[in-house]
Amino acid sequence: MISEGDRVLLVSGEDKFLVKVSQNSTLQTHLGEVKLKELIGKGIGDSVKSSSGRTFFIVKPLPVDMIMKLRRMTQIVYPKDISFAVFYSGISSGDKVVEAGCGSGAMTLALAHAVKPGKVFSYDVREDFISLAKENVEKAGLLDCVEFKLKDVYKDGFDEDDVEAVFLDLPEPWRCIEYAWEALKGGGVLFSLSPTYNQIERTCREMLGKFVLIEVFEVLVRRILAREGRTRPFERMVGHTGFLVFGRKIR
Ligand code: SAH
Repeated sequence: MISEGDRVLLVSGEDKFLVKVSQNSTLQTHLGEVKLKELIGKGIGDSVKSSSGRTFFIVKPLPVDMIMKLRRMTQIVYPKDISFAVFYSGISSGDKVVEAGCGSGAMTLALAHAVKPGKVFSYDVREDFISLAKENVEKAGLLDCVEFKLKDVYKDGFDEDDVEAVFLDLPEPWRCIEYAWEALKGGGVLFSLSPTYNQIERTCREMLGKFVLIEVFEVLVRRILAREGRTRPFERMVGHTGFLVFGRKIR
């Protein structure tokens, strides 16, 4: 049963809206307005009508919905890259992992969801980014699984050791590969995301001798418009976000 304060996704056709249920608020859309108090007492999968008679279905927001709707002040890691990073790093429930920088917290949210009830230790040099990431992770109900740390990881490295994986999304990741190595357990996975070839060359060079199975990927995802008799790919797609570097720690 949906109650005051719950976050749900309201879906009408292709449109979706992430809302926090409350007695007094109204969702204004181009498909009419929805009084949010009408959701109270309903269940996930039920529907409500907007003022213009459109049906809105009530769906549970997934981490991917939270990420696409979160408030951002930085470039975020896209779900296509996060998906690959999470499975390829082998992390799972209960793990302890490290991340830098947290930025807007998109990756943080996904990592917390994957390791819950484990812990993500998430670093950034900017206090304003940490508070934004905190706000975004809190909205997803995952704040218990994240500890944020205000630090310059190029200079000071990481406090943790024996972690399962380290995730880097930094402008100059090669400057903290040594620190990532120290934080990881033997065989632990280093992941680093960078947009340019020059960056991944430097990162991989720095990883030599400290990591094995150094591999780099680019993930391209093409959405398909599935309609009977005229199914085809969408015209537009995201052409480039970043390259994904992986390696496993050796002693
Ligand atoms: N992965 C994030 C986006 C990270 S943007 C997301 O999905 O939302 C890169 C971040 O690295 C920025 O927030 C920046 O402040 C941080 N950063 C840059 N240099 C850093 C350093 N030396 N130590 C810690 N964080 C750093």
